[in-house]
Amino acid sequence: MNSRRDFLRQVGGSALTLSLATTTFSEQAYALPADGKQLGVALVGLGSYADRVATAMKDCKLAKLIGGVTGTPTKIDTWSTKFGLDKANFYSYQNFEQLKNNPAIDAVYITLPNSMHHEYVIRAAKMGKHVICEKPMSVTVKEAEEMIAACKKANVKLYIGYRLHFEPYTRELIRLRKSGELGKILHVNTYDGFKIGDPKQWRLKKALAGGGAMMDVGIYCINGARYATGEEPIWVSAEETKTDPVKFKEVDETITWQMGFPSGAIASCVTTYNFNNLERLYVIGEKGYVELSPAFGYGPIKGRTHQGAMSWDTTKMHQTWQMDGLADCILNGKPDPNMTGEEGLKDMKVIEAVYKSIAAGGKKISLV
Ligand code: NAD
Repeated sequence: MNSRRDFLRQVGGSALTLSLATTTFSEQAYALPADGKQLGVALVGLGSYADRVATAMKDCKLAKLIGGVTGTPTKIDTWSTKFGLDKANFYSYQNFEQLKNNPAIDAVYITLPNSMHHEYVIRAAKMGKHVICEKPMSVTVKEAEEMIAACKKANVKLYIGYRLHFEPYTRELIRLRKSGELGKILHVNTYDGFKIGDPKQWRLKKALAGGGAMMDVGIYCINGARYATGEEPIWVSAEETKTDPVKFKEVDETITWQMGFPSGAIASCVTTYNFNNLERLYVIGEKGYVELSPAFGYGPIKGRTHQGAMSWDTTKMHQTWQMDGLADCILNGKPDPNMTGEEGLKDMKVIEAVYKSIAAGGKKISLV
């Protein structure tokens, strides 16, 4: 770990930055292993998020994009040119298993629609490749358990793309909570949502998305409330509102829910596909508070605490932090962040309980 002084020097901290920075932050000091090996990565499903990850990986030190898997042959041309990749390192969904014999690819990153994560994580694990899978890790708890079991059996890592666990503001929020500077956590108020466009997209089809706003962005509130409290919820109660039953025929539109934690802390949450400007994580403790807003998008994340404005490095893309951080775990044996399959499963259990509560008219559902 670098010192605070090193960190501020690294980000070019000015006097202003120094006076605004209310708390310490240590950047992970990433170093290549002694053999100089980088983590070779192939992206599976070359859509918009894969493009973002590939762009971010240009700045990675430990992780290196090698190739991809796509059902659209023309993407091989565009991607190899755009990201300087060898066309020989691209595969289709049909010949995916040939990737096993490519020694340059150590890990695959699944960026397909949600309901396809289960199949491709298990196929990747069977090839002995480490797996990074986008959120939500699956569309059911059962699937998530099967994915974890397959990766364990194959002795490969399974990480979920919870990029914020490497993001400086989020890390600082977690550090403040862990250090006790906020005191006992009493309440979390968190929301995440946006107005979704094209009514024909896969995100509005249950067979591909598994659910609506809850599965897509509500999951950030669940994960956020868990890292803001450091606890696992023991109950949830939820309600759904639908203003457009045609567009949201198959998936949820707006959900409000509460989660109770063993300490007595309560999280009050909202997610939606129906309006913009909804993105906040506010954690209140006996001694202080942290408010991140925006809290979950690509940033820059902004925040303040009871001591004033927070100010951290936002020059790197979240996915650059994430991919180097995960490569550091795989290559250098650093401790896993809270992004493992088991962490993804915990969120899936809450999501299922939220849907169960809605189906039961808002009844409190126990998670223990
Ligand atoms: P997208 O629609 O842009 O990309 C999906 C890709 O899957 C496309 O290349 C598409 O061709 C391919 N695909 C293969 N089979 C398909 C099928 N049957 N139907 C539809 N597409 C199919 O979606 P996206 O926004 O890139 O999302 C992909 C995944 O990444 C989702 O799980 C999403 O939740 C996740 N995601 C995560 C973040 C994050 O910040 N961590 C952000 C955006 C998306």
